[in-house]
Amino acid sequence: MISRSEQKTLLNRTPRFEDMLCSLYAAPRMPGGVVKETKKVVAIARKFNVQVIRARTLELDKKMHEEPDYLAWDFVREANRWGFYSMWYPKQIGCKGYSFFSMPPFIEEIASACLGMANLIMVHYLGVTVLASSMNVRLIRRLFMDTIEGEKTDSPCIFSTAITEPGAGTDVEETELVDKGNITCYAQKVPGGYRVNGTKVFISNGHLATWHMLIAYSDLKKPSENMVVLAVKNGTKGFSFGKMEKKLGQKCCPASELIFNDCFIPDEYVCADMRMDMPKTGLSKKDLAASLLDDTLAASRCGVGAFGAGGARGAFETALKFAAKTKVKGRLLINHEWAQCILAEMYKNMLAARLAYMESNYANGVFGPMAVFQYKPVYYFSKYMPVRFFNLFENFFRKPVATKLLRRARLLAFKQENNQITAGLGSFCKFSATDLAVKNCHLALEMMGQAGLRHDKNAEKILRDSKLLQIYEGTNQLNRLNLFKCLIARDFPQTVVFDE
Ligand SMILES: Cc1cc2nc3c(=O)[nH]c(=O)nc-3n(C[C@H](O)[C@H](O)[C@H](O)COP(=O)(O)OP(=O)(O)OC[C@H]3O[C@@H](n4cnc5c(N)ncnc54)[C@H](O)[C@@H]3O)c2cc1C
Repeated sequence: MISRSEQKTLLNRTPRFEDMLCSLYAAPRMPGGVVKETKKVVAIARKFNVQVIRARTLELDKKMHEEPDYLAWDFVREANRWGFYSMWYPKQIGCKGYSFFSMPPFIEEIASACLGMANLIMVHYLGVTVLASSMNVRLIRRLFMDTIEGEKTDSPCIFSTAITEPGAGTDVEETELVDKGNITCYAQKVPGGYRVNGTKVFISNGHLATWHMLIAYSDLKKPSENMVVLAVKNGTKGFSFGKMEKKLGQKCCPASELIFNDCFIPDEYVCADMRMDMPKTGLSKKDLAASLLDDTLAASRCGVGAFGAGGARGAFETALKFAAKTKVKGRLLINHEWAQCILAEMYKNMLAARLAYMESNYANGVFGPMAVFQYKPVYYFSKYMPVRFFNLFENFFRKPVATKLLRRARLLAFKQENNQITAGLGSFCKFSATDLAVKNCHLALEMMGQAGLRHDKNAEKILRDSKLLQIYEGTNQLNRLNLFKCLIARDFPQTVVFDE
């Protein structure tokens, strides 16, 4: 009835089979162990919500309102004791080594209880993703060991990511825009390293982090081709903290200003420099920077989608609890048909948000840069091979050749169509899920009447917290444009995107 080649041609037509049914395509390719791990991390998150978050969330939000410069070290220490800052680090260096696939469901769970506290934990992994995307094996290992040491000594060592500048937010999130932006963070190449001058703003966890993954530029006239990723440690001469933003929501997670004033970063802390240490693979410097940024954002936007699902769920659960015990006109709210319709709508929004981030999660699992770790033979090999086997290669991983080989392999494996799916679905889930979170908050407030506005009822806090999700990790407008670029415009070569 249909030949193989005919089937292939038809399935490659828009919408391509993999784009349309990414989860169906991905699920059979994933190892079964991933399901077990995901169940485990979700259960851990539920336990943490019960034992730590639920009792503290409103109290901490109130404290932050009264004392905006307070740093939530107590909470960060608690998360550190639970091992959350290294939970997805590899088993080979003594960590749990959970699959990255299990991370978004964990995020949803924690975020459903408190978006601010979820960010206090998970934005660390944005830094981890930037570091991992640089594929600098020596530095990845070095900084991961610091987090592990921080867990052993009860002094958290977490990462922040510094991309946004006072005059450039959206522009630095997209390589097509960065050359038009007002970029000022300059990393000048000097003997033995870089000298950095400039300021970064709105950096989540800045004041709480030990290491900052800094994105700077070695030529401000053409930043898209001159991106440098540097790891900056607290205490480095010329680096200081500025103010903490007084913001609407997620108050417990500081948004910090980072100031670099003739700050010297030695070569050993250069994660990646697009001009100097990338293997020759035919990709331009701009394409290299774009692939690094896309790899990072495809993963982090999936995470923010999971935050969105958590926000949508938190609003739903708050409204449901209220409806189950509040009487209106002599009847429980939950028994009024109009309230049942609102609750069903909210449930749908929560479910749609989850499906959205899971689709992106599946895409990252089979097409993303970390897909190799979900490939069944690699997954089971790294799971069941004794750690001492990997120790044999410890010295090799410290050498620059390891980084070179890894980068070469990654860049040779780079495929534009895979990148379009992961980046496109990352943007799709980011704006879909976070819009649904805000929608659910509005529905909760509508149903709860004046009670919804009271701090102790939690709904207004979830709305304040959720609103921020529409802005960070690229505004939802930018993410709509990115979806257009990745998944729609590719079939129309005459289309111009990011040109205004
Ligand atoms: C709570 C919070 C935490 C954050 N954490 C971090 C962090 O850890 N690290 C970090 O580096 N940054 C962080 N940010 C910064 C965040 O990434 C930026 O706020 C975001 O990228 C938007 O930039 P902007 O605020 O400068 O808005 P602008 O870029 O000034 O945009 C303003 C408006 O114009 C629209 N717009 C701008 N350019 C375009 C365009 N080309 N096409 C269409 N619309 C456009 C935007 O969509 C928006 O509606 C955080 C922000 C917040 C609020």
